[in-house]
Amino acid sequence: MEKLVCHSCDKNKTELLCGHCHMATCKTCATFVDEDSFDFFNFIPEALQNKAFCHSCNLSYASKEIDRLQETLKKAKQVNIYRKEQGTETRFIRRMQKPITVSDCQDENETLLRLAFMAVQIGFSTLVDVQINSKKIGEGRYKKYVFDGFAVPVDSKIHKSF
Ligand SMILES: [Zn+2]
Ligand SMILES: [Zn+2]
Repeated sequence: MEKLVCHSCDKNKTELLCGHCHMATCKTCATFVDEDSFDFFNFIPEALQNKAFCHSCNLSYASKEIDRLQETLKKAKQVNIYRKEQGTETRFIRRMQKPITVSDCQDENETLLRLAFMAVQIGFSTLVDVQINSKKIGEGRYKKYVFDGFAVPVDSKIHKSF
């Protein structure tokens, strides 16, 4: 591939193209979004994963998206989770929303976090009827467990009466 002059610095030649505007960007000017840049890499949309962004797209797009995701993740960690077995605590809460589901998670924590993350994205901070199921896949030493989850987002916070 022909080397192009970086459109940010107008100096360095590069083969790298920005993942957003597709203009040539040198390594010095580009920002890479990879596993090192985000704790929960698999939570970020594919449009951002393993891409390089030129200086201006990073400012106007990539870093804003990542900040937004970090913010969502922070809120997700504070979502109130009520398991299905806690039905007596949540029985007076009206289930108005469609349930949300996630699949192919690595463990129980990831399953919960993904459910909570989805809840925050649609504007909820409490989940009830939460159920997590695991199933075994593969054979012998390739055997592993994958988890899926189910939850109903609800409006109100539950005021504990005990
Ligand atoms: Zn450059
Ligand atoms: Zn760009």
